[in-house]
Amino acid sequence: MAKKNSKNLVVVESPAKAKTLGKFLGDDFSIVASYGHIVDLPASSMGVDIEHDFTPTYVVLKAKQKALSGIKKEVKGKTRIYIATDPDREGEAIGWHIMNKLAEIKPKSKKLPEKKEFLRVVFHEITKSAVLDAFGHPRQMDVNLIEAQQGRRILDRVLGYQLSPLLWKKISRGLSAGRVQSVALRLIVERERAILEFKPQEYWNIEAELSKEDMNFRARLEKIDGEKADLGNKEKTGSINDEIKSQQFVVESIKQIQKKRNPYPPFITSTLQQEAFNKLGFTANKTMALAQALYEGVELPAGPQGLITYMRTDSPRAADSAIKQVREYIEKSAGKEYLPDNPNYYKAKKSAQEAHEAIRPASVLNRPQDLEEFLDEDLFKLYNLIWMRFVASQMNPALYLQTSVDIKAGRFVFRASGTKLLFAGFSVLYKTDDEDKESKILPELIKDEHIKLLALYPTQHFTKPPPRFSDATLVRLLEENGIGRPSTYAPTLQTLVYRDYVRRNSGYLRPTELGMKVIDLLVEYFGNVINVEFTAQIEENLDKIEEGKIKYAEILRDFYGPFKADLDFAHKNIKKEVVYVEEACPNCQKPLVIKWGRSGKFLSCSAFPECRFAKSITTGIKCPEPDCPGELVERRGMRGRFFYGCTNYPNCKFTSNKLPKNTDDHKSEEAEHPHG
Ligand SMILES: [Zn+2]
Ligand SMILES: [Zn+2]
Repeated sequence: MAKKNSKNLVVVESPAKAKTLGKFLGDDFSIVASYGHIVDLPASSMGVDIEHDFTPTYVVLKAKQKALSGIKKEVKGKTRIYIATDPDREGEAIGWHIMNKLAEIKPKSKKLPEKKEFLRVVFHEITKSAVLDAFGHPRQMDVNLIEAQQGRRILDRVLGYQLSPLLWKKISRGLSAGRVQSVALRLIVERERAILEFKPQEYWNIEAELSKEDMNFRARLEKIDGEKADLGNKEKTGSINDEIKSQQFVVESIKQIQKKRNPYPPFITSTLQQEAFNKLGFTANKTMALAQALYEGVELPAGPQGLITYMRTDSPRAADSAIKQVREYIEKSAGKEYLPDNPNYYKAKKSAQEAHEAIRPASVLNRPQDLEEFLDEDLFKLYNLIWMRFVASQMNPALYLQTSVDIKAGRFVFRASGTKLLFAGFSVLYKTDDEDKESKILPELIKDEHIKLLALYPTQHFTKPPPRFSDATLVRLLEENGIGRPSTYAPTLQTLVYRDYVRRNSGYLRPTELGMKVIDLLVEYFGNVINVEFTAQIEENLDKIEEGKIKYAEILRDFYGPFKADLDFAHKNIKKEVVYVEEACPNCQKPLVIKWGRSGKFLSCSAFPECRFAKSITTGIKCPEPDCPGELVERRGMRGRFFYGCTNYPNCKFTSNKLPKNTDDHKSEEAEHPHG
């Protein structure tokens, strides 16, 4: 993006964004990408001076030295430097660190140093009008945003840096704890334990198949002698079923109400992640990567173009110009009856920044069907979802007629319910899964008329344990509890999976044995820190820093006192845990012990480090290769994926993503789920 003679330099995070911007800014601007943060706390030490107001020491990241020298080269001869990083805390901090690095450059000649002016430009969509408008109204760096980002970073560092060694001491080296990550893990583990402890209760339902003028419908037993029907077991259900058979079915009452269903607000980060999981099966991480590509710009015949607004946001607000455009579109394409008299306005939660916008199409005139041939399949699916949701958000409500009919049968009351769609409204474009099943038509029934009973269906049920979390339900819970922010939901989940504290199992999050051990330790010693209320309080305080109401050193001081006391107590009381197994080391005959590594448990000689014998704990399933004496063992690949390999490796190269069934070994059932 180097252009000769231009006096302006624009700094952004990514090459894709640089390319899209380049199209709008013309030859007077050179654009350079930083590839994310250039500067961070050091990897080799804590980098925070706790004694002196938690002052951080920043270093240039090793992997970013090349990017920084690239930017420094570009800055020569430029008089104006525009910081055009993303419009949030992280973006502001990335830009601020780069600005500081560039301001350090000493002029080589003895002449007066060139005067450089640094300006911040902020836009929520990478379209020509938004970009030109932003460059027409640059501002100074926002010190409060930067302060909030630093507060978050330093707090996470102090906490993680001091907690992790305790995990090493008790469980295994290399483990890590984190502020938001550990609370999320705690929620997942607590849910798992609730599932394990759950005792299913038996209950029964009776449904009646009824008929009027050849139209069949079903009604469910609701009341017995005026009380809610409670059918506990097969015997009771059987005798009641027999009694019902001989009753006359008479319509007792008919209730009809019109129900209005309002459209959903346009997406914010958390709702986008939930719906993309529910409708498209995307993990939170995948959704964010795709959304970023749509935001930064997609190659279209007319050149690169940003298709959606910024994807990290907690505000459902839409710009007036976008509302005007979508209202014109709805009136023209769907008709006046779908357009409300006034725009639908959506309010953010109190913590949201009102300067932010919902995730919406940059222009509704970029219809999904027109772009399909230019977008990869997954990009298209996500864009389509965002487009539909936004257009629907400005349409009229859907109208339903709900009918509830009580049918008397002696001392029993059955209830039938029907739903009829009167006006589809926004739902022509956007439905959630549960609404799809909703249309249920009943015949026209009249009070006191007799209905014919065709059959009775008694069915046995058991109460179900609470479900495991999915990406969607965990993100919703984190948001509802005020834990984390739009920028943290996806990385939090990703870290838990990467650390093997949690595994995704058919879309559901299941803690591993290691994850449970880690949480038990953290909750025992740091229950005040690794909990929902404390974490939510911290997030609120970070918001207050952003509003300029407090400084980060204050919240760090408030946090550190009690935390240090817990820490000292833990250091004194946590002992290395040693779990012996009944197997001797083949090299030195000392007993073997269970140890934990990055990919789970393994056996090690208790005389370590004098004796370095170690071996995997196998699944107990024989290797399916003919004549191979090995057993299958779980391993982890370079990219973090788990697979099964053979203990006889490298002589046997068998691998499989799934554990084959062992026909002659009773242990196979248990080995299906090596982490309980
Ligand atoms: Zn040994
Ligand atoms: Zn083998």
